[in-house]
Amino acid sequence: MRLSKSFIPTQKEVPSDATIPSHQLMLRAGLMRQLGAGIFSFLPLGYKVMKKVMNLVREEIDAIGGQEFHLPALSPIEIWEKTGRVEAFGDILFHIKNRPLVLAPTHEEIIGWVAANHIESYKDLPQIWYQIQTKFRNEPRPRSGVLRGRQFVMKDSYSLDATWEGLDKSYDLHAEAYKKIFTRAGLKFFIVGASSGAMGGTGSQEFMVESPSGEDTCAVCERCGYAANIEVAASNVEKAVRVPANLQLKEIHTPNVKTIDELRDYLKVDESILAKSLVYIQNGIPHLIMMMGNDQLNETKLQTVIGANARSAHPEELAELTGADAGSIGPLGLKGFKILIDKRLENANGLVSGMNKNDYHIGNIDLKRDVQVDGYYDFRTVAAGEPCPQCNEQLRVVNAIELGHIFKLGTKYADALDAKFLDEHGEMKPIIMGSYGIGIERIIACGIEQSHDANGIIWNKSVAPYDVHLILVNSNVENVVRTAESVYETLIQNKFEVLYDDRSNVSPGFKFKDADLLGMPLHVIIGEKNVVKNKIEIKERKSGQRHIIEIEQLISFIKNFYENN
Ligand code: ATP
Ligand code: MG
Repeated sequence: MRLSKSFIPTQKEVPSDATIPSHQLMLRAGLMRQLGAGIFSFLPLGYKVMKKVMNLVREEIDAIGGQEFHLPALSPIEIWEKTGRVEAFGDILFHIKNRPLVLAPTHEEIIGWVAANHIESYKDLPQIWYQIQTKFRNEPRPRSGVLRGRQFVMKDSYSLDATWEGLDKSYDLHAEAYKKIFTRAGLKFFIVGASSGAMGGTGSQEFMVESPSGEDTCAVCERCGYAANIEVAASNVEKAVRVPANLQLKEIHTPNVKTIDELRDYLKVDESILAKSLVYIQNGIPHLIMMMGNDQLNETKLQTVIGANARSAHPEELAELTGADAGSIGPLGLKGFKILIDKRLENANGLVSGMNKNDYHIGNIDLKRDVQVDGYYDFRTVAAGEPCPQCNEQLRVVNAIELGHIFKLGTKYADALDAKFLDEHGEMKPIIMGSYGIGIERIIACGIEQSHDANGIIWNKSVAPYDVHLILVNSNVENVVRTAESVYETLIQNKFEVLYDDRSNVSPGFKFKDADLLGMPLHVIIGEKNVVKNKIEIKERKSGQRHIIEIEQLISFIKNFYENN
């Protein structure tokens, strides 16, 4: 491709809302432009990268037996109602104004519908079905460029199995394929245990890239390799110990004391005997959740226990249900509540908590003696420096970007959509499903996040839009032009993809800057100084290393570079 004829609008300045390197560089290098919040146009160079990424993903999913579909983005709302996901997705789901249709944010429902209508017997199973297609999600705060779009491309695959062992196998096949995909894309990633969220199901893992731009938070152990999304990372901190004395409940006047810190300072006690109470409503039932001191309640862990649509109570509800405002609420004397307590406080005594009367607390609470506890669960959010649940080493807590997510869905969708098959004993059984997603734009953006410098992008060879960036330095010197043209032809004949900067209206310095910005792995530089000696210069973008070689050696040099890099 001749740069003189191509549409690659590079730019120096980027808008101030482009704060992360991948967003800035994708704009500067002319890969994409923003059309609206979370909506992006991929320009030819960006789309070339996207196609490379899609092909790489396609090859690995084909290799595990995936069969590619092209499903519609529009789908009848009725099937989403059947699975309860109109409600579960809430505002994320894009509705069509004048028809009972929605724009699919993912495709479990459509796959389930195809399976319900066309899979009959265990002989039709297992299947791996996939597509690489546009998804629509009304993300509340689209930011970080293409990392979080309202329209984005996903590779989504689905496994259909007759047995749970079959599901395990399909899931493992995907995990292996994902490792190959991200490794081939040149990404440094890690795998974490994750929450199944709105998908539901029995197990899931996320493929993560550590990055300060990440919106996910993960706990990782450098020693044993434990890694989990903070939403599910297991707490392993010291529990409260029971004090021997059996002390009577005691009313404590605590005027204007609202927070745990204020209460600790006011009573001059250790934070560990202070029990914080929070109220959540799930299907109209109030739940009192108790945590130790300033421990953070993890809403994902809570929702896993009490249900996905649990919400924290409004101030008016609090007053009505407990008789007090937040800060004075506690477990004694409540009616109609379920009481769930963080494991760290299991069977603790000597606790101080709110009295359900403003400005009053109660001391010496014994959870065994005084409270009807409905269950102890791990509700804590793990913090940096806490002991690893596997090996007790201090955990690191890092920001990360989710590249992909694999789920064992089980029979949730088959049950809702009546997707059944006849097993070998002639019994009707629900199909056991798995679902596996990868964000195509996220592979591109994460690649740039991990591999760039102050001058621009440094593409990994597997996704680079071109293999070679050929630079004609002296466009006014005839034999230099002739050499560049013939090198261009030779490279194409040898099946390399070449971006040829043949422009005559820009300076060599400008061309070198653009070449660094666009980031092809190899730059082949044709300048007068070398051409007169029948030589050319090659620059490796990543290392900056330069080589002066005979023109005849060019093809073998490039082949060698691509085989060994
Ligand atoms: P997140 O927690 O980041 O919103 P998710 O859990 O909603 O992601 P999934 O529903 O599992 O994501 O979707 C599968 C993959 O699609 C994700 O791993 C991610 O790579 C990609 N993805 C999800 N939402 C977006 C988005 N808004 N923009 C770009 N890619 C996305
Ligand atoms: Mg999401």
